[in-house]
Formats: sequence, C-alpha cells, structure tokens
Amino acid sequence: MTFEVTFDKSRQMYEKAKTLIPGGVSSPVRAIKPYPFYTASADGSKIRDLDGNEYIDYCLAYGPVILGHNHPVIKEAIKQQLDKGWLYGTPTELEVNLAEKIAGYYPSIDMLRFVSTGTESTMSALRLARGFTRKNKFIKIEGGFHGAHDAVLVKAGSGATTHGEPDSLGIPADFTKYTLQAPYNDIETMTELVEKNQDDLAAVIIEPVMGNIGPVLPLPGYLEDLRKLTQENDVLLIFDEVITGFRLAMGGAQEYFGVVPDMTTLGKIVGGGLPIGVFGGRRDIMEMISPSGPVYQAGTFSGSPCSVAAGIAMLDYLKEENIHAKLNATGDYMRTVLSEIVEDEGLDYNVCGIASMFKIFFGAEPHNYQEVLKCDKDGYLAFFHRMLASGVFLPPSQFETNFISAAHSKEDIEKTLEIYMENL
Ligand code: PMP
Repeated sequence: MTFEVTFDKSRQMYEKAKTLIPGGVSSPVRAIKPYPFYTASADGSKIRDLDGNEYIDYCLAYGPVILGHNHPVIKEAIKQQLDKGWLYGTPTELEVNLAEKIAGYYPSIDMLRFVSTGTESTMSALRLARGFTRKNKFIKIEGGFHGAHDAVLVKAGSGATTHGEPDSLGIPADFTKYTLQAPYNDIETMTELVEKNQDDLAAVIIEPVMGNIGPVLPLPGYLEDLRKLTQENDVLLIFDEVITGFRLAMGGAQEYFGVVPDMTTLGKIVGGGLPIGVFGGRRDIMEMISPSGPVYQAGTFSGSPCSVAAGIAMLDYLKEENIHAKLNATGDYMRTVLSEIVEDEGLDYNVCGIASMFKIFFGAEPHNYQEVLKCDKDGYLAFFHRMLASGVFLPPSQFETNFISAAHSKEDIEKTLEIYMENL
C-alpha cells in the first residue's frame, strides 16, 4: 500500500491552535498525539485533512454520521430549512413531527423533550429521575460515559479514560457523592448496591452496549436482570442510547435486546449530524418537567429547526432504505474477517462489536471497564498511527468504538481489511 502522508499544514495549524484553544482542540479525545490532523472536508466514507490526505473514516464524528458525510438527502433538508430561517425561539410543527416519529420507534417513550447535546440529555434525565422519585442517588456503570456534566464524571469512559483522568478538578466532592458505581455485566454487585441504597436511589443509568470503552457487549440476560432488579426495587432504569439509538436498530438497543427502560436519552444520529439531544420516557415521569411540572429544564437552542429537519430526514431515510439490515450485515462481515486475520496472525487480540460497531481489543475479550483497562493501549495507539499513515482513520484510542456508515462501499471495506492485515 503506498500512501504518501505529510502533515505539515496540520502541524502548523496545531501550533497556532494550541495558543488559542487548550490542547489545540474543542474536545479532548480529538487531541491525537503528537498532533491531530485538521479536517478540510468530508464526503461519503472519506475525510480529508488540510494537507490533502484522504482517509476512509471509521470514526464518523463518534457516531452520528451513519449515512456517511455530506449526505445529499440530509443536506437538502437542512437547505430547505435554512430558506425559512434557522432559529425562532418558538415551538414548531417540525419538532412535533420528529417527537412523533421518535415515540413511534421507541414504545418506552410516551413523551420527550429536545435539548442540544447528549450531555444535556443525561443531565436532564437524571434531574428528572431525582425529581420524580424524590430520591438523590443514582448508579452508573464504571467506564460508562454520559457526557461532561458534574454528576457523571466519575470513572467515565471515552476521553476521560484515554487521558487517565476519570475524575475532574472543579467538581466539588459533594456533587458526586450521590453518584454510585457498579461494574458492567455484574448483576450480583449491582443487586447488593441497589438493595443497600434503595431508600435513596432514584435511578440506574447505563449504556446498554458500552460504547465509550469499547464496544463491550452485555452478557446474555444481564440487561433483562437489570430491568427486573430495578423494577422490583422501585428504581428508574435509564438507557443512555446516545450512541446505540438509531444505530443498532431504529428502536435502538431496547428494540435489539427487547428490554424496556423507564427513560431513554438519545443524541448523535437523531440530529442527522447537527447538534441535538433527546430525553424521554413514561408519561407520568415526563409530565414532571417544567412547565407541566416542578422539575426545571430549558434551552435557547432546544429543538433547533435545522437539527430537527435533519433528524426527520435521517430517520425517514434510515427507515425507507432499510439501512440497518445492510449496515449490520457489513458489520458482521467486518468482524468475521478481522477475527480471521487476528487468528491467522496468531495475535492475542479480540474482535468485538455489534451491528455496525466494531473494535479490535489488544488483549482478551473484555466484559467490563477493569478488563478493558488491561488492554495494551500504547500498542493500540501505535497501530492507530500505522492505520492513519495507510489511509484509514480509526478513533484514536483503544477505548472508542469504530463505526461503519452506509456510504462505506464494498471496495472501502476490502481495502480497509487489507490495510488492517498489513498493520496488525
Ligand atoms: N452519552 C453517551 C453514551 C455518549 O457516547 C456521549 C458522547 N459521546 C454522550 C452521552 C454525550 O453526548 P454529547 O457529546 O453530545 O454531549
């Protein structure tokens, strides 16, 4: 494989960016060492940097870009909305339409509210769960990432794990004293924790598939047991489907696994690639939200018309074109061939994933955060750089999921597998 890479312009941009933006980036995980490439444009399965290098993209903006970059159908929906103005500060018919569609795909969602990011969606869902139950504590899963707000930045995955800072300065200990942790895939520890704290326990929040340390999959029966446990103890179950929503299936992980939560958070894909977040759930819970009820929540950009228009176009296209069937088959193929390569090369690695999410773990197959941490993250980073220099952009960490888009052609996939083979 010949692929001439120069990063001169990106390196220069990094030097300038560092003087203006901490770490030269707008979000920590983008800070690829020794410096990130700065993107000039992206189309379909390809992303191009300032130096003119082109990569097959499996990062896909960390999940939202499920149809590939610059998709004409989404672009047209945004353009049509732009002609009508892009921010009103009033309710719109569009948001009612999108709400109706989402509720149709997620039977657990009777009502929902739009926000602007996944972070806001989990922040609001947790406040609502606490307000509804009038209890303070919640349990999150070690390595689960629910955005960058105070209460959830404890043993959080994604960039927080990559940079070895599971906790953050600036968060008073009092703000996280109600945040309890349980290991993923361990119903015994979860049961003990739930029973011990039941009196003041509002909710369990979980990524049904752990996307920010993996993907790490639920063991058979785990999500079902968790549903039963929370129900029996009067604790709300919140599925954070910011990654899995509209990724595993139209109805997300809850459809895929057939487990029904009380509340759900969504983001990423549901905005068609524009900023969005959603939290929703049972009517009796959602009606506690202001102005219907006493739990406050608000946002200038909530239900932003372009995001909502792009989201509607996205959901309709995914459904009409039956995208998940094709994507999930590509994911299966990718995982099968990668497993063969790992085996042929005699590597002690593991290929994991589900639907159109995949990853090679540089170590044994992990079932929780502690096991993921045992993987060879430095070895993975060196591999990431070899892949980048060969024209494949993977998320720059052992702890992030690779995604496939509908724009990835058979040729892209075969070329990628060849490059994997050369670089593993
Ligand atoms: N929840 C999950 C499961 C996520 O993966 C993320 C972001 N990667 C978030 C919440 C936060 O979303 P956002 O970055 O849009 O705030």
